[in-house]
Amino acid sequence: MAGIYVHIPFCKQACHYCDFHFSTNLKHKSDLVTALCEEIKLRQQYLGTSVIETLYLGGGTPSLLSATEMDRLLNTLHQHFSLTPLAEVTIECNPDDLTPEKLKQLQQQGFNRLSIGLQSFNDAELKWMNRAHTAHESLTCIKRSQDAGFNNINIDLIYGSKFQNEKEWQHTLAQVVELNIQHISAYNLTIESKTALGFQHAKGQEPGIDEALSKQQFLYLIQFLNTQGFEHYEISNFAKPNRMAQHNSRYWLGYSYLGIGPSAHSYNGLERQWNLSNNARYIKQVQAQHSFFETETLSTDNRYNEYILTRLRTKWGCNLQDIEGQFGSNYRIHFLERINTMPQYLLKIENTYCLNEAGKLMADKLAVELFV
Ligand code: SF4
Repeated sequence: MAGIYVHIPFCKQACHYCDFHFSTNLKHKSDLVTALCEEIKLRQQYLGTSVIETLYLGGGTPSLLSATEMDRLLNTLHQHFSLTPLAEVTIECNPDDLTPEKLKQLQQQGFNRLSIGLQSFNDAELKWMNRAHTAHESLTCIKRSQDAGFNNINIDLIYGSKFQNEKEWQHTLAQVVELNIQHISAYNLTIESKTALGFQHAKGQEPGIDEALSKQQFLYLIQFLNTQGFEHYEISNFAKPNRMAQHNSRYWLGYSYLGIGPSAHSYNGLERQWNLSNNARYIKQVQAQHSFFETETLSTDNRYNEYILTRLRTKWGCNLQDIEGQFGSNYRIHFLERINTMPQYLLKIENTYCLNEAGKLMADKLAVELFV
């Protein structure tokens, strides 16, 4: 069984750090939804099954779709795919969109998990990020979501900005825990060159990231959330028992998924596809049923590298039998040769290798060492 991701590429305003694909021009929202519905029909064979265990609406800001637009999209999905009775159905939302009416609508439409982009509880920082909400809205939208009946809520947080010293970060996390939510995704701020923050940084108007402080904050995050009953199951993700994100876990465990919408990626075990990252061209090409994605057939080396990159970041780690079974004995030999040079970064449980705290601080670098 598999999952579907739908990318909704619209936002009210551009956050200064963001390099996802989105547009603040909402004029073509309805045409885009029509193209999404068309793509769903065109790609219904991709997964080799119509049974879906997870549906994830991300973006962009999916909570910007009107009730009618959302109905059109979901009706088309339901016409071509069957969600299992316990399917996880997630929508990414921003705090300022979550009115009581909107929450009711989302619940009636079958969403059972919210992923809310809080990012910070500091108004000055939110303004600096160019977020469209305030710290007060960050706090109240959670209570409102819970009152509406949502009991599976993720919040996104960003650490490492110039606004957060160690004390501020500790205060943020203490507030988060008080919210009684089930899942936290916490990301270290990065400065991407093609963002407003990237341009300001290049002109010397914004400082770089204080890496030492970021590391301190990451270690505090792991330790503190552990004492509060959250399991650290992926570098940036923490969950209460039985509340791990099913959809994202499937990416990390190598399951197939279909990505619908501009810039969305799909994977079926053998090849990877990615859609055009331009709304107007995406709409036009889908209407013409022509060349709206590119495809890469994955070699065994590609698949092995991808396994390492994703699994090393998770609590499931890299397993020797998996490596031999999926890629062959040469890859097992290669993996063992490399992994044995980095014992200080590892926890080894039988034939599975996971990162310890020191390793988690440099997961991507260690993954590169293990690549073929
Ligand atoms: S709301 Fe999300 S997707 Fe949109 S600009 Fe901000 S961070 Fe990016």
